[in-house]
Amino acid sequence: MEISESGDRITTDLLVVGGGISGMTCAIEASELGKDAVLVEKEPYLGGRVARMNQYFPKLCPPICGMEINLKRLRTNDKVKVLTLTTVDEVSGKPGGYEVKLTVQPRYVNNNCTACEECEKACEIEVEDDYNYGIGKRKAVYMPSFAYPTIYVADPNYIKDPKFKACVDACKYDAFDLDMQPQTIVVKTRGIVWATGWKPYDAAKIENLGFGKYQNVITNVMMERLASPDGPTEGKINRPSDQAAITKIGFVQCAGSRDENHLPYCSTVCCAASLKHATYVREQYPDAEIHIFYIDIRTPGRLEDFYVNIDSNEKVFMHRGKAAEIREVPDSKNLIVAAENTLTGEITEMELDMVVLATGIVPNIAEDHIPADTPLDEWGFLLPNAASGIVGAGVTNRPLEVSACVQDATGSVLRALNTAERS
Ligand SMILES: Cc1cc2nc3c(=O)[nH]c(=O)nc-3n(C[C@H](O)[C@H](O)[C@H](O)COP(=O)(O)OP(=O)(O)OC[C@H]3O[C@@H](n4cnc5c(N)ncnc54)[C@H](O)[C@@H]3O)c2cc1C
Repeated sequence: MEISESGDRITTDLLVVGGGISGMTCAIEASELGKDAVLVEKEPYLGGRVARMNQYFPKLCPPICGMEINLKRLRTNDKVKVLTLTTVDEVSGKPGGYEVKLTVQPRYVNNNCTACEECEKACEIEVEDDYNYGIGKRKAVYMPSFAYPTIYVADPNYIKDPKFKACVDACKYDAFDLDMQPQTIVVKTRGIVWATGWKPYDAAKIENLGFGKYQNVITNVMMERLASPDGPTEGKINRPSDQAAITKIGFVQCAGSRDENHLPYCSTVCCAASLKHATYVREQYPDAEIHIFYIDIRTPGRLEDFYVNIDSNEKVFMHRGKAAEIREVPDSKNLIVAAENTLTGEITEMELDMVVLATGIVPNIAEDHIPADTPLDEWGFLLPNAASGIVGAGVTNRPLEVSACVQDATGSVLRALNTAERS
């Protein structure tokens, strides 16, 4: 890899956009083939959505298991350059010879940072916490899990706030640099892989299911953060309205997915994700009733054993039924789920403490478009062999679980390098 002295021009074999599990895999695999790769991530951390989970199905190990090994392989790899807080502005050229303009946003914290936490402790500014999907608050200077590099980052919206001075003053290492500016970098690359992944479908659009209206209706990604030891409740799953213990919880499958009014497709992973969430609840509440409302359970291949195992628990109840409505019981803030049996048409109602909506996966490129001529399918996923020669990896291509993303990413690297070689 050639990097100009000022760092604003890089020549490489492969540019990978998106530092989730798919993008990390692409960069590492390319380097193992002897190729140079630049890995670009818009957030200050790597790992994408997986970094924000409590555990992965089916083995139920924490994300640190897979992530730490990948981070180590990146940190010690002189064939991969990682750029966080970075996005792509322009792509020109064709396979074998692209020129890509990047913008790196300032972190306002330099490499003097030792992650001693003093700035965060001194910070009085609390802001909405996107990392935790809006549950709880974070400070205006913070260090997300899997931060890359492992240093703090300052929120650009608050560095001019007079109260921010306390954070700067608390630093003993001269690590704040509030004059940092966005930097433009031009990358010349032979191939491009796009791995920008997904975001959760906006549950507030499914008006009949009460998200945003009733405090005790949450989404599946919020459940991951509630159960995570590094999450806003340090892993304790309580009911949001009063922090009460869970006695009877519901999971509503296909919340938006397989629905012509929302996402017409199956998001593939939500059934296994809710079954996994049942294990989170079971671990903390051995006697709680867990009710799962489904159209049909989709856990193909080896995930079938995972399903059978969880379903065998005597307090896990599977209900064939599409949730038609959720309404709140005003005094208790309990929730009534009305579900229609998809075989018989019968409507049943059940009162629960709390409900988790299994909202689906929306590809980021459907709204945050690739700045090149790249056709998408009708749902917003990248079509294979797109005219631009840009190759997708992982959930950019279709909804996939982690192990399938890793396989897909490995294939994508080969495809991108092959396309460049043949051009
Ligand atoms: C509730 C839920 C639970 C799940 N649990 C599991 C599980 O237990 N086990 C399992 O195998 N799978 C699970 N999955 C699926 C898993 O989340 C995906 O397989 C995985 O996140 C896909 O990784 P990815 O790298 O393709 O995308 P992502 O994880 O979305 O990563 C994409 C990366 O690209 C970055 N990015 C986005 N836009 C840009 C841009 N413009 N420029 C630069 N960077 C950008 C993002 O910040 C992110 O870091 C679950 C899914 C859901 C919905």
